[in-house]
Amino acid sequence: IVRFDQVVKRYGSNVVLNELDFSVAPGERVTLIGPSGSGKTTILRLLMTLESIDGGVIWVNGEPLSHMRRGGKLVKANETHLRRARKSIGMVFQQFNLFPNMSVRKNVTEGPVHSLGVAKDEANQRAEDLLDLVGLSDKIDAHPTQLSGGQQQRVAIARALAMRPQILLLDEVTSALDPELVAGVLDVLRNIAQTTDITMLCVTHEMSFARDVSHRVLMFDEGQVAEEGPPERIFGDPQEERTKSFLKAVL
Ligand code: ATP
Repeated sequence: IVRFDQVVKRYGSNVVLNELDFSVAPGERVTLIGPSGSGKTTILRLLMTLESIDGGVIWVNGEPLSHMRRGGKLVKANETHLRRARKSIGMVFQQFNLFPNMSVRKNVTEGPVHSLGVAKDEANQRAEDLLDLVGLSDKIDAHPTQLSGGQQQRVAIARALAMRPQILLLDEVTSALDPELVAGVLDVLRNIAQTTDITMLCVTHEMSFARDVSHRVLMFDEGQVAEEGPPERIFGDPQEERTKSFLKAVL
């Protein structure tokens, strides 16, 4: 569903992704781990088309996203492909980014009604179902300022799912939360992982969560995949020195 093919991303002279190759299959849940600055967030931002690449190709559902190299030149991606890719991908950020002046209900229905043309009644029903899924049915008419950080993040998850993405990107979604609010958000994500077949790509520092939900863990270092495998192997029997020292530092 997603394939990075020799992807290069630089910020000035800082090479963040260095001919990176990896792919994610439909329905697969993949977690990206690795030291700070290894390019994990950059990968998600590239998929959201918030940044452009300096080489290689990113494929989403078999269509090239961002730029594509033709005869050594980087060519702008086709608008139709970009639109389709954006529609198939949802993202939840570290900072919840809810619309502060809208109710929880409006936050969740706004995208489907205005961007997808879903009928209001249908969007409302879906918002109710999703808020039930994230355990916030009683907050549907509240405003974001009346919610805790953990509750806001659960609304942000419901809002992303309301767009019915095929792929959900999660970027350190618990790192801005007070410690006592982390478990509630992770439980919601575990539940989504267990009850849906949505493809998930997560960047997280929560190793036990990564172990519970992922089919595969990719360990990043210096803009490349240093090691990958099922969570039991990466956490239980890492082969690479870089993985061993990273896990020693975070576990
Ligand atoms: P962390 O776990 O700390 O979030 P990360 O693995 O997600 O780290 P990225 O956020 O992808 O790392 O950043 C990779 C590198 O790119 C870092 O060296 C960072 O300083 C650099 N970088 C990221 N965004 C920009 C930007 N907008 N301009 C310049 N450099 C940037």
